[in-house]
Amino acid sequence: MDFALLALAPGLALGSFLNVVAARVPLRRSIVSPPSACMSCGHELSWYENVPLLSYAVLRGRCKSCGEHIALRYPAVEASAALLVAGCVWKFGLHPEALVATFFCLALVAISATDLEHRIIPNRIVIPSAAVVLAAQTAVKPSPEWAIASAGAFVFMFLLALAYPAGMGMGDVKLALLLGAMLGRTVPVAILIGVVTAMIPAVVLLARHGSAARKMGIPLGPFLAIGAVVALFAGHPLLHQYLHH
Ligand SMILES: [Zn+2]
Repeated sequence: MDFALLALAPGLALGSFLNVVAARVPLRRSIVSPPSACMSCGHELSWYENVPLLSYAVLRGRCKSCGEHIALRYPAVEASAALLVAGCVWKFGLHPEALVATFFCLALVAISATDLEHRIIPNRIVIPSAAVVLAAQTAVKPSPEWAIASAGAFVFMFLLALAYPAGMGMGDVKLALLLGAMLGRTVPVAILIGVVTAMIPAVVLLARHGSAARKMGIPLGPFLAIGAVVALFAGHPLLHQYLHH
């Protein structure tokens, strides 16, 4: 538990880095340089404007130079990265599995942020992440389970995309590779929770805007990520309950 609390600070720093990844990778810009700047006026951030969470609070969510609103996505990404890193250390202890799970969660945060912001799941994030997680899981817990679940989830999502092309993109299909590689046999839990929770805002939009709602696509990636986190932390008991009732 103490180690989990200690993990919060590096988790915040990693979240701050993920904001840079999410903002720049879809635009094919370098994640190393130039330094962080206001997206609106280009004002370069000094160190005290770049402290995770605190700066957002101190600046009251506005750029010091131009006063433009800073997207709530920035502190949200930092907070979720910190909580997930601490959660992985708490759940898996000081074990190699904690490292793999942490990497997996951070990839999910970056993917959710780019999907919400740019409406894409970049190949350059999801494919290398899936490869790293598959190799690491197979090394830490040797079994064909990870490769089989990865391929199985991919095929399932591909067929779902063929059946319902308006609802999902190929990015979601490739995301399934990553989910299966990490979650193994509990990956159906992640997909089921993801698809069902994504239907909630879809139904609300449909009720409010009628048929016009069909044009307002809802990105599926963040919902699959939520499902994946639930499956990572509670997938086995949930699957067990389901199979025995
Ligand atoms: Zn500005």
